[in-house]
Amino acid sequence: MEYANDVCELIGNTPLVRLGPVAAGLSPLVLAKVEFFNPGGSSKDRIARRMIDAAEQAGLLMPGGTIVEPTSGNTGVGLAIVAQQRGYRCVFVCPDKVSESKRDTLRAYGADVVVCPTAVPADHPDSYYSVSDRLARQIPGAWKPDQYANPENPASHYATTGPEIWRQTQGRVTHFVAGIGTGGTITGTGRYLKEVSGGRVRIVGADPDGSVYSGGTGRPYLVEGVGEDLWPAAYDPGICDEIVKVSDAEAFHLTRRLAREEGLLVGGSCGLAVAAALRVARTCGPDDVVVVLLPDGGRGYLGKIFNDTWMASHGFLTAPADGTDPLRAV
Ligand code: PMP
Repeated sequence: MEYANDVCELIGNTPLVRLGPVAAGLSPLVLAKVEFFNPGGSSKDRIARRMIDAAEQAGLLMPGGTIVEPTSGNTGVGLAIVAQQRGYRCVFVCPDKVSESKRDTLRAYGADVVVCPTAVPADHPDSYYSVSDRLARQIPGAWKPDQYANPENPASHYATTGPEIWRQTQGRVTHFVAGIGTGGTITGTGRYLKEVSGGRVRIVGADPDGSVYSGGTGRPYLVEGVGEDLWPAAYDPGICDEIVKVSDAEAFHLTRRLAREEGLLVGGSCGLAVAAALRVARTCGPDDVVVVLLPDGGRGYLGKIFNDTWMASHGFLTAPADGTDPLRAV
């Protein structure tokens, strides 16, 4: 019989799929690592399991304890899945730009959700960083994984995502592209691929226009899960060879194309990463293998990126000059 003992055993070992129409005309092989195959639907399952394992071993998380974390949803789902298996309670704090369906998902797994304003600075008492700190101090037996500073975040990608990509490409990967949120994915995966290839693999970060990683001030952008207004400790600024800046419009345009042309219903940060990967691929030759990581699925964004009214209200559905149908163009 072939089965897992629990869903936590199903985390990782996600597949690679070649991008076809979206990468048409480009010389290198462009492969997407599809993280929605994780049981919680995103790459964050990897970090959740490893951060909880480490906290238990260090005695930071005891039986009956509560996990408190600021999360845009995906880390919360990963933590909620592992926590419910082991009898912990979860309280998640997220900014109000996070879609309602993502918050409902966290509640469905049994977690409590506290919503905070997006449009306040990180040091403001109402920011989701400040509120989660306060709750972690006030709730007895609380432990805050702090994905932004926890070394187990990049360590999980060093131990799993990096080796998987190396094995799946039989060591032929030449470029790795990923969006930067906490920086855990690019730091851990990038470090592993650099080490195992003797520095040959080029690491490319994708960043929303406005975020600090590409020289911005942290001004608002709409793509979720990536970009920051401050520099987290989980991110090693020395790991990226290049950072590509991508606008919301380009990220959302590609996100919709991935669903329509590749059959990949994925989130906005996936479109952002693919936009960066295509820019990189244009500079590559036929022997290059570009791997781009797609962090999550698109079901949580149906009311936004995949909704024409929402897209139009943000100015992302504009009629092309050649008179083609604007809905077909995006
Ligand atoms: N995309 C989404 C949807 C995310 O939730 C995250 C994590 N914040 C990322 C991308 C970026 O991953 P990382 O935090 O490892 O940089």
